[in-house]
Amino acid sequence: MNGIIKAGLVGLGKIARDQHLPAIEQTGGIDLVAVASRNAQADGVNNYPTLDAMLAGEPDMDAVILCQPPQVRYEAAREAILAGKHVFLEKPPGATVTQVEALITLARAQGVTIYASWHSRHAAAVADAKAWMAKRKITRVSIEWREDVRHWHPGQPWIWEAGGFGVFDPGINALSILTEIMPEPVTMLAASLEVPANKQAPIAASLKMASASGAPIEAAFDWRQTGKQTWDIAVETQDGKLLLSEGGNQLTVDGEVMVQAPEGEYPEMYRQFVQLVKDRAIGADIRPLQLVADAFLCGKHCPTAAFED
Ligand code: NAP
Repeated sequence: MNGIIKAGLVGLGKIARDQHLPAIEQTGGIDLVAVASRNAQADGVNNYPTLDAMLAGEPDMDAVILCQPPQVRYEAAREAILAGKHVFLEKPPGATVTQVEALITLARAQGVTIYASWHSRHAAAVADAKAWMAKRKITRVSIEWREDVRHWHPGQPWIWEAGGFGVFDPGINALSILTEIMPEPVTMLAASLEVPANKQAPIAASLKMASASGAPIEAAFDWRQTGKQTWDIAVETQDGKLLLSEGGNQLTVDGEVMVQAPEGEYPEMYRQFVQLVKDRAIGADIRPLQLVADAFLCGKHCPTAAFED
């Protein structure tokens, strides 16, 4: 490997262009050498129409970064791992829990790194929120993740299809922060999922969870919010109140802003990936995905009006 990871990226779409390409550019220890995408090409690297062709054309490639929709990630990840490549998975790491578990087992057997990335965990204020909560008794958590799907996901039919997650596509980001900052395990108790008559995935969800010691945790995810967008996690403790807002980039404790910083999530993820590959380690915490699966398992499915996106 010569010290620098030679990486190929699959699925040159919105997140690959907005975040992955610039983050790789600014991270030491990893170079992008190739892209595999059916309908797009990147400048300055070798381009291929498929992962198969990229694996055949780039025998020295060390790692594969998967940025397609979750429904097609499992087959691609399996192929890359079986070819001996380290794998970086965009979130969510797969369309089902069992697929991701199978990938982790396969990666271990092949001796390669698998990284299930959760970009929101690297938002500026998450580590400080976790440290503050570690010393306190949590009595209640309320999550509001409300955004405008027409603004954030135009022209993405996959997101409304089975395995596309619907409103859990952003909602799993909140659950990734929750599972990171909570000092104890979180369990799903009940859920209500609103599915538009013309879609296969929910447009809104309300979740009832609890911490292991019984603190109630509620979450409201909604894709119909226009105007100001809301990505907030409010935590009550016996010793003060914390508000993590702006998707984890702002931390307020008892009304006082403690951290406020612009988003810098992807460079941090690539630093983590480079380290994991150096250590030949597995970085795959699937708790956020398990919570989503549990919400579908115990959730009441409530049909709602058709939605034109
Ligand atoms: P996207 O632009 O719709 O899709 C990414 C690329 O994947 C497409 O350009 C397409 O490239 C390929 N693709 C699409 N459908 C496919 C299919 N059925 N089979 C194979 N390839 C397909 O999606 P995105 O917004 O980048 O999201 C991709 C992943 O990143 C999702 O899991 C999402 O949750 C995650 N993510 C997105 C954002 C965001 O802000 N958009 C933020 C964080 C994480 P080709 O047609 O050229 O092959």
